[in-house]
Amino acid sequence: MPAAVLIQSPLTVRPASFMPRLFALIPAAGSGSRMGAAQPKQYLPLAGKPMLYHALRNLCRHTAIDRVIVVLAPGDTYFAQQDWTEFGPRLMPLFCGGDARADSVFNGLLAARDEIGEHDWVLVHDAVRPCLALETLERLIETVRAEPTGGLLALPVVDTLKRGDAGGQVIRTEPRDNLWQAQTPQMFRYRLLLEALRATRATGASDEASAIESLGLKPRLVMGDSRNLKVTYPQDLALAETLLRGMERGSP
Ligand code: C5P
Repeated sequence: MPAAVLIQSPLTVRPASFMPRLFALIPAAGSGSRMGAAQPKQYLPLAGKPMLYHALRNLCRHTAIDRVIVVLAPGDTYFAQQDWTEFGPRLMPLFCGGDARADSVFNGLLAARDEIGEHDWVLVHDAVRPCLALETLERLIETVRAEPTGGLLALPVVDTLKRGDAGGQVIRTEPRDNLWQAQTPQMFRYRLLLEALRATRATGASDEASAIESLGLKPRLVMGDSRNLKVTYPQDLALAETLLRGMERGSP
């Protein structure tokens, strides 16, 4: 094959005419301390399955996604207790989670370097967002595929925003124009995301988009869905279960 049609990279050598592939990466190595439960929140039962199951299923059912990588804590003993065979070889568990979410994502990307080409897309999704609708995922993929930098699901802020002082009293009301609440998945090219996370390791990025922003780039905001909530507090579990059951029945 002539050298001109090859993308040379230390990671892969693939014909340039190939469409970039799609990978999902789910960081699932957190302890979930705000939930106050005995087990990490991604394993708490939700509609009869561990929460992680729903996040995996929602990504695995999108046929354009090649593989779903799940990053687990090195000492994780919960994953092996569940039967994941319905996801087949597309599911790739890696026991390389780190101290913070960004470390887990970075470690997972590095560990999967033989699988993913530098221009392939990676969709990073929280294990604790179990109610991602297929049409929302499709909207993200279709919009971001045409973007140079990548993008993320997000929702315009609807509540009035108050800045408080340390004593819990309002200092002022903040304008909410053009403010968005970031969700996941967040979708970026493999090499760009890896380098952005490497560059922000010392300071710690709270999400993938903020690591990309620190390089001076502008990720695309794609309209998310209020059902795509992040389960954080005990009361969120009942809400997520109601939403999941509604989505399974096909209600909007
Ligand atoms: O703790 P938080 O709710 O922000 O976690 C968001 C996601 O990041 C969860 O899926 C959690 O398991 C994951 N995480 C991780 N490694 C950590 C901390 C969080 O994979 N050290």
